[in-house]
Amino acid sequence: LGMPAVPTKLADRRVSRKIQVGPVAVGGDAPVSVQSMTTTVTADIGATLQQIAELTASGCQIVRVACPSQDDAEALPVIAKKSQIPVIADIHFQPKYVFAAIDAGCAAVRVNPGNIRQFDDKVKEIARAASDAGTPIRIGVNAGSLDKRLLEKYGKATPEALVESALWECSLFEEHGFRDIKISVKHNDPVVMVNAYRQLAARCDYPLHLGVTEAGPAFQGTIKSAVAFGALLSEGIGDTIRVSLSAPPAEEVKVGIQILESLNLRQRRLEIVSCPSCGRAQVDVYKLADQVTAGLDGMEVPLRVAVMGCVVNGPGEAREADLGVASGNGKGQIFVKGEVIKTVPESKIVETLIEEAMKIAEQMEKDGVLS
Ligand code: SF4
Repeated sequence: LGMPAVPTKLADRRVSRKIQVGPVAVGGDAPVSVQSMTTTVTADIGATLQQIAELTASGCQIVRVACPSQDDAEALPVIAKKSQIPVIADIHFQPKYVFAAIDAGCAAVRVNPGNIRQFDDKVKEIARAASDAGTPIRIGVNAGSLDKRLLEKYGKATPEALVESALWECSLFEEHGFRDIKISVKHNDPVVMVNAYRQLAARCDYPLHLGVTEAGPAFQGTIKSAVAFGALLSEGIGDTIRVSLSAPPAEEVKVGIQILESLNLRQRRLEIVSCPSCGRAQVDVYKLADQVTAGLDGMEVPLRVAVMGCVVNGPGEAREADLGVASGNGKGQIFVKGEVIKTVPESKIVETLIEEAMKIAEQMEKDGVLS
């Protein structure tokens, strides 16, 4: 009898239609992508491009820029051209900026049905312009700006209200044969948000952009997003994600990537398996884990490094990892691929782990583990 297979994924992906946001496919069998939004004034082209470059370096795949004024609209052609990743223009209120964004070569345009009552009679023209240019539209419903008609009907931003708003806006575009659409139905409460996306997922085949809106400062926002995205992605729902934090956007990207890696929706890179420490610990586990994390920061290889405080679980975890340390009595046993290769004094644990990690990374690169 063979060993039972360990599951590596939680559910099959919901079948959605695939759209193209510039070179990045969203939906269908495309990997779930990570996006963020700039915080600069879009009209400040230098600052916006600088932030987009930082986001690109942090692994962001799609970036959204706000477009609340004519100056911002005029900046779009240069930004769309010079950005290394596809740019989505985020438009509320003013239909004329939708046309400007399409003309500017933006990879997609986000419109908010709650703020576009004046868009309704322009849908035909928008659909034609977007279709001619091959520009998809994100219908981005937000609890904070829900269509007044629906707010009256439901009393508040319920999942049903969010979904009805999105599907109503879709139907306006569909009337003109336009289906190059992705949808979001964001709410700041993960429970409402998860229910909204579940309902939406069952009622259409458009790709879905997940977001917990106004999720809060980094700690709270990270947890809310991880919980909500985790619930949905583990059911196969979600094609692109944006973590919203009251923190620099590169932080959002890091969190988004970590969520996907945790769910095996993306190959894991550096993963530190460290114990919480307890009364048995014979080294300062927090410090050791922080130092190892800092020392290996930026490594692109999929590497599992165990940092364990004592010999209870230490050798077991260290053996399962690519590399690890099990500490005890002022010393650390260093494991590589399950074998103890040496024992070093506590003061040498960090440098030894980093040294060995580099060797493993080099070997992985030679072996073509990275694709
Ligand atoms: Fe405690 Fe040892 Fe487990 Fe760390 S590995 S939590 S120190 S028993």
